[in-house]
Amino acid sequence: MNVLVINCGSSSLKYQLIDADREEVLAKGLCERIGIDGGMHTYQPKGSDKIKTSVDMPSHTEAVKLVLDALTDSKTGVIGSLSEIGAVGHRIVHGGEKFSKSVVIDDEVIKAIEECNDLAPLHNPANLIGVNSCAELMPGVPMVAVFDTAFHQTMPKKAYLYGIPYEYYRKYKVRRYGFHGTSHEYVANRTAQFLGRDIKDMKIIVCHLGNGASISAVQFGKCVDTSMGLTPLEGLIMGTRSGDVDPAILEFISQKEDLSFKEMLNILNKKSGVLGLSDGVSSDFRDLGEAADSGNEQAQIALETYAYHVAKYIGSYVAAMNGVDAITFTAGVGENNISARAMIASYLTYLGTEIDDEKNKTRGEEIIISKDGSKVPLLVIPTDEEMSIAKATIALVGRA
Ligand code: AMP
Repeated sequence: MNVLVINCGSSSLKYQLIDADREEVLAKGLCERIGIDGGMHTYQPKGSDKIKTSVDMPSHTEAVKLVLDALTDSKTGVIGSLSEIGAVGHRIVHGGEKFSKSVVIDDEVIKAIEECNDLAPLHNPANLIGVNSCAELMPGVPMVAVFDTAFHQTMPKKAYLYGIPYEYYRKYKVRRYGFHGTSHEYVANRTAQFLGRDIKDMKIIVCHLGNGASISAVQFGKCVDTSMGLTPLEGLIMGTRSGDVDPAILEFISQKEDLSFKEMLNILNKKSGVLGLSDGVSSDFRDLGEAADSGNEQAQIALETYAYHVAKYIGSYVAAMNGVDAITFTAGVGENNISARAMIASYLTYLGTEIDDEKNKTRGEEIIISKDGSKVPLLVIPTDEEMSIAKATIALVGRA
């Protein structure tokens, strides 16, 4: 069965058409600047070059229509008709406490997702627009919601509560939720499979290091802690997000610089992380690596601070699980950035783990990068969120 995987943002829509039985991506693409002038559709059928078209998309429904037209186009399409799309899988960012697993979308589910909008005001409403647009253009095709937060719902109270008055949890559900759950779940499972072990006997730390970054402690197959919080701002230093800071910094800087709370949050979300630390060199780790190699001290400081924070989180999750059996890197930086992995690993020798510089030279493939005989293996497992969403979709709607 072919599954259309949709990741809908406020002005963008990423998609993949996946033959879920063969685990094969038939086509993928991106609609940008939806609802804004200067729209752009990038479409790439399997084995072919990207086709970029400038086209205005006044609404998400028009964007989905464009996607469906591209997929069924007589020349560059990959399917004959829409009837070849058996189901749609939607990435939904926030499922709150309501959703601990993927669900088939119906009116009640839509209402429950809407009730989580408060917790992710930038993401959930946009995700739902994607759901509604697909429902309008593909009536009767089953749709599944796959939540970024779901995998982390197994965290115990001691891990998800903040040290603030309990009434804010009771009244507003202020707590740690965590994100990138689809990736953490997939990578933890693959780690166990790759090592030929049963995940139910393992303590695994997954480091999802991309532009957004989070880390999770997965004990016996269940998430017991993760670094992102109520929102994706908490935790590791990221491309442009600060990660953990002393909350009093907000007031301190806002007074000094005469900034509003909203402006401060914008700085923490968009102008901080390695971008801010490097004094504006870049949020991209390739640029930072090049700058550091050519002597840019600020870029070097950003990279070192980043690695140090990842290592500190790993240490705290070893403590949380009272041990660790494997540590896995994934996402853009984790899969490809040789020097970032080496820098992080340099803090882990106390675990009896030593990185193998030769094995670490790999990019984007499943591999153990620690030396043979290391007590705790370090791995790279490329993540595949879209494929995971397609599989979760199939699991719920069947293969008919
Ligand atoms: P993601 O958000 O998972 O796409 O990850 C994006 C990050 O991965 C960016 O900071 C990229 O610089 C980094 N990245 C991707 N490919 C490479 C590479 N070949 N070498 C170093 N960093 C990379």
